[in-house]
Amino acid sequence: MALKLFNTLSRSVQEFTPLDSTGKKVGLYCCGPTVYDFAHIGNWRTFVFGDLVRRTLEFKGYAVTHVMNITDVEDKIIKRVRETKTSLREFTGQYEAAFREDLKTLNCRLPHHTPRATEHIAEIISLIEKLLQRGIAYQAADGSVYFSIEKYRGGGCTYGQLLKLNFDELRTGERVKSDEYAKESVADFALWKARVPEDGDVFWPGPFGEGRPGWHIECSAMSMKVLGESFDLHLGGEDLIFPHHEDEIAQSEGATGKPFVKHWLHGAHLLVEGKKMSKSLGNFFTLRDLLARGFTGREIRCLLLSAHYRETFNFTLEGLQGARTAMARIKECLIKLIEVAESTLKYRDVTASPDTVTLNKFSNALDDDLNISKAWGVIFEWIRVLNRTIAQGKLSPEQSIVAIATWKKLDKVLGLNFDLKIPARIIDETVHAQGIGLPVGFAASIEGEEVAPREIIELAEERILAKRAKDFKYADSIREQIKSKGWAIEDTPKGPKLKKL
Ligand SMILES: [Zn+2]
Repeated sequence: MALKLFNTLSRSVQEFTPLDSTGKKVGLYCCGPTVYDFAHIGNWRTFVFGDLVRRTLEFKGYAVTHVMNITDVEDKIIKRVRETKTSLREFTGQYEAAFREDLKTLNCRLPHHTPRATEHIAEIISLIEKLLQRGIAYQAADGSVYFSIEKYRGGGCTYGQLLKLNFDELRTGERVKSDEYAKESVADFALWKARVPEDGDVFWPGPFGEGRPGWHIECSAMSMKVLGESFDLHLGGEDLIFPHHEDEIAQSEGATGKPFVKHWLHGAHLLVEGKKMSKSLGNFFTLRDLLARGFTGREIRCLLLSAHYRETFNFTLEGLQGARTAMARIKECLIKLIEVAESTLKYRDVTASPDTVTLNKFSNALDDDLNISKAWGVIFEWIRVLNRTIAQGKLSPEQSIVAIATWKKLDKVLGLNFDLKIPARIIDETVHAQGIGLPVGFAASIEGEEVAPREIIELAEERILAKRAKDFKYADSIREQIKSKGWAIEDTPKGPKLKKL
């Protein structure tokens, strides 16, 4: 089966074929963050979706060049720089660093290029100059340069390729910003914003006077710089379709006369606890807020990857608990596989080919416009069968090794990144206390009481695994071990609790 993706340009699911004549190389551009605050969970849905697209393409053997811009100059940023009395670079640098950290926490593959707008002023200016030369941009009385949609359309180009709306219906509800009164038509958008006193130090010299770039033009300039005038895939949240992506198409195609992007992919919105996320409703979460509640990057990633990218997704804390349980199921199975493999073999020294039947089922699900629910279905069915076979004592060490190799391949797409190189009896460092389904706050024990050391928590985790595997003798021996180290473990309806003796 070939990979098929929904293309917003054609409003249909299309087979994905790269522009590259060898059919191998793929250029992928995702609109990146505006670094004036921490990215919220709605943003992260889009970035994790971008990561899924990239991983799927790589799973299928494409050589992907992944580009994500960093918008480090923009109205909100300038306002905050003014308020905080910092320099632009200092202010944006902290949020850019936080964004990169968060990408790692969610185990997203880092883009190959993360160009900053402020470092591409020359490319942006030269693109604007091209549009001026072609007569589809003009400088207004206030010094700003605007894109003329009327001139663009007059040249036979279509504005509104993604929305497919009647042009006259577009932008009717859009308010003209006070600093944009100078433009000729309400639909025109700024390519270069002339310097105003409120900009402070944030401006660059340009052939059309001092100022700063508009937001849309930076994506056109930076994507084409790295990926060429025409490239394969452009991604973003559906809220970017209009005006951002329409404007990107108009500027790029207006300047080059060539088709800008072959496939446009858009991720749907995210609701939190059934409502649009908002600070006033108390359902606004950054990634950091969720980590502070005791969830792991892996659990959050798993939940964000649980629904199809074109479906509006309801993100809930209950859903995160479900993701925790799902992760525990996978992890337990992997631990059992390692145990079976290690019963007679040093599995790390043996190479095995993955099970192609399972891989093909998984791959076919992704081919169907990234049908992730179907792909999870394949995984959990595979785990169910493995668990049953292990419980019956019918899984050989060799079969276990094949299963581990299969998981490693599946995980290239899922990116859950369980550490399989460690001996089975050692708990994965990164999942720590939450990884196998311990109650939130377990590691911190009860308020006011002493926090159990890591060694004790690990033993407690081991005991949970042993109990789940119905190995009660082993579970009891762990309880004794914990006791000998000065701690008691109590089973409560909410899960086990540790108490200092
Ligand atoms: Zn963009």
